[in-house]
Amino acid sequence: MEAATPKTLQEAVVYFADPDNCREYVVARRWPNGVTCPTCGNAKVSFLKNQNKWQCSSHHAKRQFSVKTGTIFDDSPISLDKWLCATWLIVNCKNGISSCEVARDLGITQKSAWHLMHRVRRAMYTGTIEKLSGHVEVDETFIGGKARNMHVAKRLRRITGTGGKDKTPVIGILERGGKVRTAVVPNRKKKALQSEVRKHVEAGSALYTDFLLSYEGLAGDYAHQVVDHAVEYVDGAAHTNGLENYWSLLKRSISGTYVSVEPYHLFRYLDEQSFRYNNRRDMNDADRFDLAVRQIVGKRLTWAEVTGKTETAHSS
Ligand SMILES: [Zn+2]
Repeated sequence: MEAATPKTLQEAVVYFADPDNCREYVVARRWPNGVTCPTCGNAKVSFLKNQNKWQCSSHHAKRQFSVKTGTIFDDSPISLDKWLCATWLIVNCKNGISSCEVARDLGITQKSAWHLMHRVRRAMYTGTIEKLSGHVEVDETFIGGKARNMHVAKRLRRITGTGGKDKTPVIGILERGGKVRTAVVPNRKKKALQSEVRKHVEAGSALYTDFLLSYEGLAGDYAHQVVDHAVEYVDGAAHTNGLENYWSLLKRSISGTYVSVEPYHLFRYLDEQSFRYNNRRDMNDADRFDLAVRQIVGKRLTWAEVTGKTETAHSS
């Protein structure tokens, strides 16, 4: 039986200062039915207390493994208490937290914090295929550039439909009263936008988009209504206010906390924000942390992947 788990950051810092607590917390979520070998799946493993590792009874390479093996914590010299406290901070800071701040809080270098945070974001990506339905808002935005110009830029793109060279187009799909999906898209053309809509929204749903030719042709599968931004007031259900609010939250988080985000890494920040948003209801900080830790298995992220040598972007 697990001891009472932490409910606040302060309790988490105290609780995870004990390496046994760290291990037991992760074990209970990684192996709820008992520890098994990550290489062969064998349940006949023995715990080597002095090494804080297990050994598989089968004869193969890599017989010994730790709770970090095969997770986002794999091969990291950073201790589990720091990993877990960083995870707590990241999943629960509504507006995000910078790598400088995490570095200071944990006493690690900014570069280590940056790498660690990208791995945690990886755990926050669920890759769900569950489709959105009901009343669904669809909108695009551009991310990047200077924060103080964002408002003007946003107004400009409404008129010109372009985002500028330093900005990355992002599509957002929001089920009213439900979850959000966001993805970096190559452009705002029909093919790019509609494939995201069809991937994430159940046919037959009510769809609200702005007046962009790229959305033409969706009426066959959806009850499609176009929002007229030139009209000051909002008439009934035809609006994308939910997503407008989401974009401002996202942009505040990115421009206020992260200073600048390279387009390549943008999808990870999108994942981070949608994780917090999609797990905001009926969940407290401890629940969100618990969920993130459950998602760590099998999501090891190498330096090569973080720096863009092997992995490709996805939608979240
Ligand atoms: Zn084994």
